[in-house]
Amino acid sequence: MTSTPSTSTRVAHNALPPSTLSAGRSPQISSHSHIKGLGLTPEGFATVSGAGFIGQTNAREACGVVVDLIKSRKFSGRALLLVGAPGTGKTALALGVSHELGAKVPFCPMVGSEVYSAEVKKTEVLAEAFRRAIGLKIKETKNVYEGEITELTPTEAENPLSGYGKTVSHVVVGLKTVKGTKQLRLDPTIYEAILKEKVVVGDVIYIEQQTGAVKRVGRSDAYASSYDLEAETYVPLPKGDVHKLKELVQIVTLGDLDAANARPQGGQDIMSVMGSLVKSGRTEVTEKLRREVNKVVQGYVEQGVAEVVPGVVFIDEVHMLDIECFTYLNALLESPMAPTVILATNRGQALVRGTVDIVSPHGVPVDLLDRCMIVKTDGYTRDQIGKVVQLRATVEGLKLGEGVVDRLAVEGEKSSLRYALQLLTPASILAQLGGRTQIELEDIGEMRVLFLDAKTSASNLAESGEFNDV
Ligand code: ATP
Repeated sequence: MTSTPSTSTRVAHNALPPSTLSAGRSPQISSHSHIKGLGLTPEGFATVSGAGFIGQTNAREACGVVVDLIKSRKFSGRALLLVGAPGTGKTALALGVSHELGAKVPFCPMVGSEVYSAEVKKTEVLAEAFRRAIGLKIKETKNVYEGEITELTPTEAENPLSGYGKTVSHVVVGLKTVKGTKQLRLDPTIYEAILKEKVVVGDVIYIEQQTGAVKRVGRSDAYASSYDLEAETYVPLPKGDVHKLKELVQIVTLGDLDAANARPQGGQDIMSVMGSLVKSGRTEVTEKLRREVNKVVQGYVEQGVAEVVPGVVFIDEVHMLDIECFTYLNALLESPMAPTVILATNRGQALVRGTVDIVSPHGVPVDLLDRCMIVKTDGYTRDQIGKVVQLRATVEGLKLGEGVVDRLAVEGEKSSLRYALQLLTPASILAQLGGRTQIELEDIGEMRVLFLDAKTSASNLAESGEFNDV
């Protein structure tokens, strides 16, 4: 069974180096870029508008309680189920929870219907999503030299390749630290980096041995007395010479590690190195490969090199899963390494997919429902819609002309908050085409005619009977 990346985007919501991200920031996430948390006071009360959230106070406070339970490890084996109409902020709440759990917590959103892929087993899609919601914080120790340059002597040698001319074969750098002077014989690439930084004898520099990165950090203590302090930043010599700096490098997810080990690539970047953890020779992510990756990860954790960061897996439209998936989900929830599971649906009483007669609230079987803490989202008032519209316009750098917020708030109240927000971007394009610097009422009017909201489209169909024969 080949594991292919499924259609929804997997993200760790804080900026990770692009090479290690499961995927880039998706449009699905960027439409929530104004959400920075749940906006709660230290006592757990929702502020009227906080962390990008407007209203929805009950749901935010309930989610805050769930965050506390997760943090105190009293949520294992359970899931949060968000129920409410489309566009009432269920995804935003899930993202808010993951922000509250920590800055670099992986957030892996998916839609229930994604499990019906032609190539991958349904349960495999769920397993992959769970793996992508478990992060691994990898610590890397770097050798760093820091001190005042006392000597900078490039040694030239004949270039053996061209047969003529001389090249720098190595460079001797004298570094004075509080412990005395040390002579380092360094690679010519470091000399190039030193030249680039325009450092001279007397400067304090920082050399990272593995990567060859050089940074000028200022002038030395001794030199500083005869130096124009106003013109230069004065940095006193740090204590010690060769520092072993412990740095938290990055978070990769178990899903990233599975994929990297299934298709190892040669190279020096972190993912290539992490991709050779398991000498499997396999080209697919199998259960066996996952177990092997787990074993190595466990070893890293025990040695203190890595730390597991459980993230959030968010399954929207959970009613689209079938009974087989629900059974598997129950088992996944029991796993000791399970991420926080947040489910969402806008269904009421519904048939559980894959069965012929099991009707259950939200289309979710009762045994899973039993494990869920259920939180309902409310609809928005016109005023609240107007505030979210204004917030999004600010985030997207859009200027709104007179009456535009009110008009969009009315549209949102008639259809949905999402519809009001969706009109913003095309209206801004229209304004641009018309040579206007801000969105005006006429742009909204035109968009309103061009793009129907779901309710209008449905009632048009009901009235006309169109497409019934399709
Ligand atoms: P669906 O059921 O269709 O998946 P949803 O309930 O998940 O919808 P979201 O996608 O979270 O709804 O919300 C739609 C848009 O409105 C998003 O851009 C979201 O960030 C924004 N939004 C929703 N509620 C709020 C709120 N209370 N404050 C600020 N922004 C909100």
